[in-house]
Amino acid sequence: MAVTGRFAPSPSGRIHLGNILCCLLAWLSARQKGGRVILRIEDLDIARCPRRYGEQMCRDIQWLGLDWDEGPVIGGPSGPYEQSRRTALYQAALRRLEAQGLVYPCFCTRAELHAASAPHREDGQVVYPGTCRGLTAEQAAERARRTGRAPALRLWVPEEEITFTDGHMGEYREWLPADCGDFLLRRSDGIFAYQLAVVVDDAAMGVTEVVRGADLLASTPRQLLLYRLLGLEAPAFYHFPLLLGSDGQRLSKRNADAGLDTLGERYTAPEILGKLAYLAGFNPSAEPRSGESLLEDFAWEKVPRADIRIPEGLF
Ligand code: GLU
Repeated sequence: MAVTGRFAPSPSGRIHLGNILCCLLAWLSARQKGGRVILRIEDLDIARCPRRYGEQMCRDIQWLGLDWDEGPVIGGPSGPYEQSRRTALYQAALRRLEAQGLVYPCFCTRAELHAASAPHREDGQVVYPGTCRGLTAEQAAERARRTGRAPALRLWVPEEEITFTDGHMGEYREWLPADCGDFLLRRSDGIFAYQLAVVVDDAAMGVTEVVRGADLLASTPRQLLLYRLLGLEAPAFYHFPLLLGSDGQRLSKRNADAGLDTLGERYTAPEILGKLAYLAGFNPSAEPRSGESLLEDFAWEKVPRADIRIPEGLF
């Protein structure tokens, strides 16, 4: 089967090491099989992800030498490859779920959610306890009137276990009521939830393999549920370990040193890719490498499964 991979960055800032590793692995995994690559800008939350950041993200990926077959044209129209322009598709998917009686309005505030979501899980996931599940249409209308708030929309999640085999991490399972709960499809401000948008887009764009960080492993069962409810075929998933700073803390966009604005001043693209490929187990040393040259060495079996700590002084 023809392989289609994708880059799906959320441009809430400059590209950082975690995104770069993601793009590199997605590109190698697809290209090694002769596959295509799509670039999609995940800017659902357009206030946090303004257009200029999306454009910068495209330029950064291009600077790294990782090309795509379909996606925004730099300096040209970005058209259908920005999620902020694809809401009609998400709306149509929402209607399909509504027609199955699986969507309900939720009026809980952030504070109420926090208070109600005990017992708090060690992994920090918020499992919605279903407070608004049983509201009748009249009660919901009354709630809307009383609070003056537009509701968020949630999916009525079945009592079911979802199991799947990740291409890198192996078997993963979740008991949906306890590990996931009724999750958001649309926020109260009208912005569609990542879970819905990513499923609709990966299916619409013909993506056959999704490569992303292990922080999204726990989202995969919800997405598999949505694929099934929407009658769509699910792709293969490959989750890779997270990068940690030398202090053992997760790298985040807030960590200025991990962003291309500072890294790009100090290193060339092959230097950055070579160091990342070394950390990810498929470059024997931290020598500079182009994406193209790494095609020979890349294999998922070489990539560790545990989080990767970046040694002091590597970057
Ligand atoms: N847009 C997400 C991110 O940048 C990735 C979503 C995905 O790969 O499914 O973290």
